[in-house]
Amino acid sequence: MRCLVISDIHANLPAFQAVLDDAKARSLHYDIVWCLGDVVGYGPEPNECIDLLRTLPHVCLAGNHDWAVVGKLDLRTFHESAAYVVEWTQANLTPPNMNYLRARPEQVPHDDFLLVHASPREPIWEYITDVNVADENFDSTSVSFILVGHTHVPVVFVKDGRSGNLHVALPSASVPVALKHESRYIINPGSVGQPRDGDPRAAYALLDTITSTWMPYRVEYPIREVQSRMRSLHFPARLIERLDYGR
Ligand code: ZN
Repeated sequence: MRCLVISDIHANLPAFQAVLDDAKARSLHYDIVWCLGDVVGYGPEPNECIDLLRTLPHVCLAGNHDWAVVGKLDLRTFHESAAYVVEWTQANLTPPNMNYLRARPEQVPHDDFLLVHASPREPIWEYITDVNVADENFDSTSVSFILVGHTHVPVVFVKDGRSGNLHVALPSASVPVALKHESRYIINPGSVGQPRDGDPRAAYALLDTITSTWMPYRVEYPIREVQSRMRSLHFPARLIERLDYGR
């Protein structure tokens, strides 16, 4: 099976559209879209992003912003600027899209794969930012391939099947990562709509479960377009500016 793996769209329609266009331009054929949560929050087009996602064959997980919008998370746990957009989203999301978000699962197992937004042991909240947290999460499940989003940083944690050693790799765009069946992985495709690894381009990946290959991609999108929409809605300047830097 071939899966287009995306995460953290964050209501950034130009970025989401650019990812789909780029996949088409590269003739990437995929059977399904795996979306690892946070379709909404931060950005100005939550309805349009959900509507577009729903035109595709897909599985979509619940993220912390999705849950905050539907009232499943306390907004006081959010940064002030993030909370502002969550409340704006609550006021502007259509009832069918609100229901869609409410129905997102916390985790989806698929053969050797586990899909979650944040981490296997804390599917909505935990940030897997270092090897120690990654190791504890490997210990919390027996699944070989764990796909996560949430940090907005493309990364691959590998636990070697023989030595048990764990190392972390920052994958380069368009350089394939061969997944070995004797090892275990926690893989993050990065963020479509709000990258935070210093590269402002939208991130996504193509996973081929037959050849066991993970292929990361980056694509430019019209950042000015989304920024001007955010400005016209008086979104916090911090959220607008950070799109320029990918931080
Ligand atoms: Zn996010």
